[in-house]
Amino acid sequence: MNFKRTREFHIALLHQGMTNKEGRDVTTSVTLIDVHDIARTARSYDVTSFFIIHPSPRMRQTVHTLLNHWGTGYGATYNPNRHDALSRVNVVATLDDMIQNLHIRTGFAPYLFATSAKGGDDRTSFSYMRELINSKDLSPIVMLLGTGSGMNKTTIGRADAILEPLVCSQSYNHLSVRAACAILTDRLLG
Ligand code: SAM
Repeated sequence: MNFKRTREFHIALLHQGMTNKEGRDVTTSVTLIDVHDIARTARSYDVTSFFIIHPSPRMRQTVHTLLNHWGTGYGATYNPNRHDALSRVNVVATLDDMIQNLHIRTGFAPYLFATSAKGGDDRTSFSYMRELINSKDLSPIVMLLGTGSGMNKTTIGRADAILEPLVCSQSYNHLSVRAACAILTDRLLG
């Protein structure tokens, strides 16, 4: 029996409030392959929507240009599957804009959980997060993905929980956000 999830599940890709390799706070650029790949993962697992969050109007315009091409332009007829995946993408400036967007539409403040390659005592297990996702709770749940070298303390502190990391090999754990998103989504929704 295919369980029909009732709770809205969203994915958000953050660029502001990240850290770089030196541990400094940065705002990363949008990587357009992230938009394509994460949108396809989101659509494949029937994720409600995928938020691209970036404070720069120019960056958001670049994403809108891509979405227009696949949404109404030649891409829409050339590749309807990609059109379908990208039709669930929302572009907003800040995390608060996303929270407000979801709160106004659903009437409930969303539950946010952050993801990171780093472990810690305060991490939430995959099994518990799956229970939350499959609960009858009416508030939307959002998986926050970082870029660059991950979310800084302020950003990760905005989340209600931090999901335990995907544990790859002990010696190398540098998944791209696209790859991590696909594995995380399968672990949680698959
Ligand atoms: N060292 C960074 C960190 O700890 O998050 C990795 C940054 S990675 C390039 C970008 C994003 O992919 C992370 O912010 C996280 O959202 C996700 N990610 C990467 N590896 C992950 C892992 N092993 N477990 C969970 N999420 C991961």
